[in-house]
Amino acid sequence: MKTNATLAHHHDDTVIIPALGQQLCLLGFDMEPQAMPMGTYFNAPTVDLDSYSRIIVCMSGKDSIASLLTLIEQGADMSRVELWHHRVDGASEDGLMDWAFNDSYMEQLAKAFNLPLYFSWLQGGIEGEMLKENSYSQPHIVETPNGIITLERDKSRTSPGTRRRFPQQSASLTTRWCSSAAKIDVGRRAITNQERFLGQRTLFITGERRAESSSRSKYNQLEPHAVDRRSGRLARHVDSWRPVLNFSETEVWEIMERHRVVAPVPYRLGWSRSSCQTCIYNSPAIWATINKYFPERGRRIAGYEKEFNCTISRKLINVIDLGATAPAFEIDDLEALQQASQRNYVLPIFTPEGQSWQLPKGAFGSEGCGSV
Ligand code: SF4
Repeated sequence: MKTNATLAHHHDDTVIIPALGQQLCLLGFDMEPQAMPMGTYFNAPTVDLDSYSRIIVCMSGKDSIASLLTLIEQGADMSRVELWHHRVDGASEDGLMDWAFNDSYMEQLAKAFNLPLYFSWLQGGIEGEMLKENSYSQPHIVETPNGIITLERDKSRTSPGTRRRFPQQSASLTTRWCSSAAKIDVGRRAITNQERFLGQRTLFITGERRAESSSRSKYNQLEPHAVDRRSGRLARHVDSWRPVLNFSETEVWEIMERHRVVAPVPYRLGWSRSSCQTCIYNSPAIWATINKYFPERGRRIAGYEKEFNCTISRKLINVIDLGATAPAFEIDDLEALQQASQRNYVLPIFTPEGQSWQLPKGAFGSEGCGSV
């Protein structure tokens, strides 16, 4: 574990000194020019956690859990921490995209760490947005400490639209609209529509890692969030921080092991990522595995592909035929397999006393199953 002195040096090296450099440049001193806007750091493995009144951790898979564990190891005041989770299927009990147990898993995880959890979602989820036909997108629903709020769309500033096709694989969030519609926009509006963030410093944490892709390798580790208005009338200071941005996958599993957190179910089944079960980036082997063990999901997706006359695959092959081109995983973790189809999460969050922590089958895998 890092000592406070080590963390302080890290903070000086990565935050204080670069900030001084930026200021000296602004004052005309002869230093290497910094192209970064103020408050933006390519590397910031530690930040002054005590300077934030609220710390939000966006939860999904192992990297977000590693982010939460990093906060604990860096000595964050956990009474300021809250977990957020964007439900990609909305409040549907018969989701098209997410794992059946995911809401319940998030609740159990939050309970195990004694932290508040707030769900937020696009009404109707990805499926509802996908079925939009000459109509407006649904409202966003946000859980807050004071109850649930419904955020209607401003119809004076948008026009009705039609999707009637799955999001398509693309770096553009307009084409791959699921990430923006079901997650990013929801998170932004959840901040901008709660007065508790005004006049406060908030740290917004997500779990991206540079090693995941070349685009993520270029991310800044600390920067003002898109909804930051620190200098404006609202004095809403929101920093976006990616604490595990420089972690290798080995370091992610190591921190999970140190804290004895059981790997989430998808990794135990062989998935290398824990995002949507029926992600548009799923490889043929993942579709083969879905079609073998969760055939109803595959059939529903293929049914929509037929209805839209447009497949997820750019090769115009539906997910049933795509799955037929590769062998399915042989799932031997029967406990995880049984859990995968149940809505209530019943497995432990922490490795039980007397048992050794297990690296899951999906660790270090390379089958595509999530956006990077
Ligand atoms: S995990 Fe896949 S399907 Fe789900 S929002 Fe991300 S890119 Fe879209």
